[in-house]
Amino acid sequence: MPYRFSFDLSSISKAFFRDLANVAKEKDLHRKLGSKARYLAEKFKIQQITGLEVTDALMLVEDLVDIYVKNISGTQRFLKTQKRALFLPHCARKFMDCKCKAQFKPEIPSYKCQHCSKDCIVNRATKLAEKNGYEVYVVAGSSCIPQIIKKNGCEGVIGVACSDELKMGADYLGRLGLAGQAVPLTKNGCANTKFSLRTLKNLIEAFPIRGRKVTVN
Ligand code: SF4
Repeated sequence: MPYRFSFDLSSISKAFFRDLANVAKEKDLHRKLGSKARYLAEKFKIQQITGLEVTDALMLVEDLVDIYVKNISGTQRFLKTQKRALFLPHCARKFMDCKCKAQFKPEIPSYKCQHCSKDCIVNRATKLAEKNGYEVYVVAGSSCIPQIIKKNGCEGVIGVACSDELKMGADYLGRLGLAGQAVPLTKNGCANTKFSLRTLKNLIEAFPIRGRKVTVN
C-alpha cells in the first residue's frame, strides 16, 4: 500500500542512516523490529522533525530497516550480476515542467535525461551510473518497471524509490529471480523528491561490475 503521508528526512542527522544500517545487521532482528524502530524514531526525533503521527513514523522507520536488511541479504547475488539497470523516479527531476529537457520514450517507457541542469540529482545519478556500466531509466511509476525489465533482460537492479514502493519492488524482483539493491527516498511526494546521491554512489562503487574499471571521483 502506498503511504498516505508525506515525509522529509532531509534534515535528519546522517547518523540516523548509519544506525539504520547497523540495526539491519543485528541477528534475530525480525523479533525486535518494533522496539528497534521505536528506539531509532525516538533517538533521532523522527516524529518531531517530520511532523508525522507516531504510527506513521514507526512504519517509515520499520520499512527503512527492512530495506537495509534486504540490501544486506541480496549482496552476494547482486555482486554476481553483470547486466544492471538503475531505476530513478521522475519526481526527483529538478523541473517537472517543460524546463526539464528529458525526452520521454514511450516505447521503453522511460525519460531520457538530456543533462540540462548540472545540479539536478537525476542528471548526476544518471551520469554516475552510466559511467559505471548501468543502463538508466527514469520512470514515471513502478508500473513501467516490468515492461522495461522484460525488454532489457537485466540481471541486477538498483531501485531508487519511496520505501513502500521499494518493498513491493523487492517482492517483484524476488519472483523474477533478479538481484536487487535499493536506495530509499529521503523525501517523498509528487515532485521535488530527494534521495542521497552519496548512498547511491557508495552502492555502485561497493559492487563494481566485473571487468569494469571502478569510478573513483
Ligand atoms: S538534468 Fe535531466 S532530468 Fe534534470 S531537469 Fe534536465 S533533462 Fe530533466
